[in-house]
Amino acid sequence: MADPDCVFCKIIAGEIPSFKLYEDDRIFAMMDINPFNDGHCLIITKAHAENLLAADPNDLAAVLPAAQKICRAVEAALEPEGINLVQANGPAAGQTVYHYHTHIFPRRLNDGALLNWGHAPGDMARVEQVYNKIMAAM
Ligand code: 5GP
Ligand code: ZN
Repeated sequence: MADPDCVFCKIIAGEIPSFKLYEDDRIFAMMDINPFNDGHCLIITKAHAENLLAADPNDLAAVLPAAQKICRAVEAALEPEGINLVQANGPAAGQTVYHYHTHIFPRRLNDGALLNWGHAPGDMARVEQVYNKIMAAM
């Protein structure tokens, strides 16, 4: 279940220290050690799974309630102007640790985080073509 080479598995096992925020049967949450803004933290599954695609759905079902609990505490403690939940899968998405995690990413107005990609009008024919491809794979 744990991967001996995985930094997050080592944290869950207590082999590497962390600022633990929350823990239950399926979930572990801690401060990110490279915060973009104050309050940047991580929710990870206790079971090792590379990312969303590999994770157990029952573990994933435990992520959002934990995220809500921590976001409420972040909101009360730090009063950010917004909070993003960010979850990366694969290198082009910016994933650097290959153990499922969701970032709780507090935002400040004009903080310069490159997460917002604007709303350029879509080509509906292309949207429909891609939609059909995804539906065929579901
Ligand atoms: P990713 O880039 O995969 O979406 O996010 C990985 C996150 O894990 C990064 O924000 C990085 O700062 C964080 N991280 C990497 N190593 C450690 C560690 O040893 N402890 C903690 N708490 N966070 C870590
Ligand atoms: Zn792991």
